[in-house]
Parts: sequence; structure tokens; C-alpha cells
Amino acid sequence: MERISWNQYFMAQSHLLALRSTCTRLMVGATIVREKRIIAGGYNGSVSGSVHCIDEGCYVIDGHCVRTVHAEANALLQCAKFGVPTEGAEIYVTHFPCLQCCKQIIQAGIKRIYYATDYKNHPYARELFTDAGVETEKVELSAIALDTQFKEKEQYINHLLNELHNQTDDNETYDELKAEAKSLFNI
Ligand SMILES: [Zn+2]
Ligand SMILES: [Zn+2]
Repeated sequence: MERISWNQYFMAQSHLLALRSTCTRLMVGATIVREKRIIAGGYNGSVSGSVHCIDEGCYVIDGHCVRTVHAEANALLQCAKFGVPTEGAEIYVTHFPCLQCCKQIIQAGIKRIYYATDYKNHPYARELFTDAGVETEKVELSAIALDTQFKEKEQYINHLLNELHNQTDDNETYDELKAEAKSLFNI
């Protein structure tokens, strides 16, 4: 049996957190990790006790929703609230951090950022990370990490492909479908 990597495990956690976001303009999740342990997590959400964008609509000023605290900031503030040190920690985020979060991440002493998706990656954020010695690495979440029926689905797709292969002369379509399955399932 193959185990998922630490990177996949922590990134999966961030993707789960993103599903808790209350602003649908962008669903973001962040997980702070120290010595291979999750110390905090956050998602894009309203200030505690206030209304949610999903219930009342976004509060947009200059094209941005101002209601929410960003996932990274929420995770860092959780550490502040409970007195957990973030010095030397790592953060796993579903999207490349915005400029504000970039500065907060650096100031909190986080040394490495893993992100799943590029998102308007600001050149100044990149510059600040480089100057602060904060490394960034793209880690995309694979299909295996969140899907408990991954193996069954992979077998089913293989079965379908084999059946198709036996019944068709259209090799071009078969190759196309197989390539698509391969990219989806790594088979
Ligand atoms: Zn909103
Ligand atoms: Zn942000």
C-alpha cells in the first residue's frame, strides 16, 4: 500500500478547510505546520460573530470583498489567540498568498510556503519572500489525497478502457480517452 506524502496530507487539509470558506468569491484554506504537526488552520471567512457573505452577499469596495479575514491571516491569528509560536513554521495554502498575507506570513517568522494554485502571484510578494529568505514551492493536490474510493475508481476506469479497447476499431478515440484517464488517475 502506498502512503500519501506529508506534502499531500497537509495540502489536503488546506483544501478541506477551503470548503469552510464563507465568501464564495474565492475559497481558500491554510494550514500551519511545525515539525510535521498541524498547529493551526484557517479559511477565508468573516470576523467571528458577524454575518457571512454566503448569507448576506459580499461587501465589495474597489472590487474587493472587505468582509473576510483571509485564510492565512486566520491561521496566524489562531496561533496568536492561543499563544502558539509560528517562528520557523511552514504554511500550506490552496492559493498563492496575496500581498497582505505575504507580509503577515513573513512577519510571523514562517520560513516556507507550499501553495497548490497560482493566484495573481504578485511580483512584489515574490520579491519580499526572496528578500526574507522565505521559500515558495508549488504542491498540487493529487486525486488520491482526498478520495477514499480512489482505488475502486481507478480499477473501474481501467475496466472501461479495456472493454472499449476490445469493442472498437477507433484507436484514435481510445487513445484520447486513455490519455485523459491517465492524466486524471495517474494510471
Ligand atoms: Zn465576500
Ligand atoms: Zn490574503
